[in-house]
Amino acid sequence: MALVVMKFGGSSVADANKMKIVASKIIAKKNASNKIVVVVSAPGNTTDNLFESVDKVTSNPPLRELDMLLATGEIISISLLAMTFSSMGQKAISLTGPQAGIFADSSYTRARIKKINPKKIKSLLAKNSIVIVAGFQALNPKGDITTLGRGGSDLTAVALAAELKADLCEIYSDVEGVYTTDPRIIKTARKLDYISYDEMLEMAGSGAQVLQSRSIEVAKKFKVEIHSRSTFSQNQGTIITSEEKIRRKKMETLLVSGITFDKNQVKFTIVDLPDIPGVAAKIFSKLAKNSVNVDMIIQSAAVNKKNDISFTVCKQDAKKAQLELDNIIEEFKNSQVVYDEHVAKISVVGIGMKSNAGVAAKMFEILYKKGINIEMISTSEIKISCIVDERDMTKAIEELHKGFGLAKKVEKFS
Ligand code: ASP
Ligand code: MG
Repeated sequence: MALVVMKFGGSSVADANKMKIVASKIIAKKNASNKIVVVVSAPGNTTDNLFESVDKVTSNPPLRELDMLLATGEIISISLLAMTFSSMGQKAISLTGPQAGIFADSSYTRARIKKINPKKIKSLLAKNSIVIVAGFQALNPKGDITTLGRGGSDLTAVALAAELKADLCEIYSDVEGVYTTDPRIIKTARKLDYISYDEMLEMAGSGAQVLQSRSIEVAKKFKVEIHSRSTFSQNQGTIITSEEKIRRKKMETLLVSGITFDKNQVKFTIVDLPDIPGVAAKIFSKLAKNSVNVDMIIQSAAVNKKNDISFTVCKQDAKKAQLELDNIIEEFKNSQVVYDEHVAKISVVGIGMKSNAGVAAKMFEILYKKGINIEMISTSEIKISCIVDERDMTKAIEELHKGFGLAKKVEKFS
């Protein structure tokens, strides 16, 4: 008998009909001789709605109480799903995160899982029950319920799969898997059969919203292979696994696996900063102290003892960043801050870059041929990102997607 962890996202349990589809899928899997642990998210937009209801009460909620409220979303899903099973004559039981033995550190709203005591889950599985666990929640050392950050149900699923040494960890959502780029924007985007943990992390960090980043980190650390697939079809999805396995099995290795984009960025440039030690330290530690998350940073080489620093921050942090920068540069006479919120970050991601030179050159060439100006560039071992004018975004993705050979062949009818 194999042990399978099946996680269903909020859109898969958004109403009673969808719950029935989910329950039937789970029963079919169980009948194929498996023990099943199910992890569910809150139905539909419940978590967003809970946040909105907080806004009506206060702009500064006590975090303990915020987590208490947010945890209710997943409790709706587990109990309703257990009732759905019962109506179908199937043995199932719901457990909150704490009841499932999931323990976290002491931070609220973004708690980290510290350990899992799987005793209760195991004894219920031994009694042939389907065990339904509320995602996104855990118990902290004070005995309070906490949450694991947005998208945290993915983390619950992967952590349980690691602890229980599950044979399979399936993450179901309303998309077929991981795509070469967003199929809502680029019609020729195609589903990848395999992708490595590192590529997935880079893609999640640069705009793709398939799985929570931390869940991928945990999957990588504990070697949990994830199958990301759709609740509403029988198709194979995308396997997220180690680079070694992809290489060993000589699976499809592409130079570039995906193109991601992020419109949620604002570009800041501080011009004419003095070229002396400590300037960057001062600027970025002030921003960090104010919890401004900085993404790309470039500093120009100094000319006449002056240089410029450009960086991007997410739109939500832009106001905070601007106020902070106005303060900081008072100290640097003649410096000036300029910003541009009409930018987009386009990234190409692929482990193929490690062994192939010229990917960056090819990216720049493709953009140049379409007259697209690159405003900033940053690279990692498996990613190259460019900031461009947001009006050029779709064109840039389209051309890169084609240029790197990712577009699926569209059938021609003659
Ligand atoms: N319900 C939580 C959220 O919306 C957790 C999850 O969906 O994974 O972020
Ligand atoms: Mg989710």
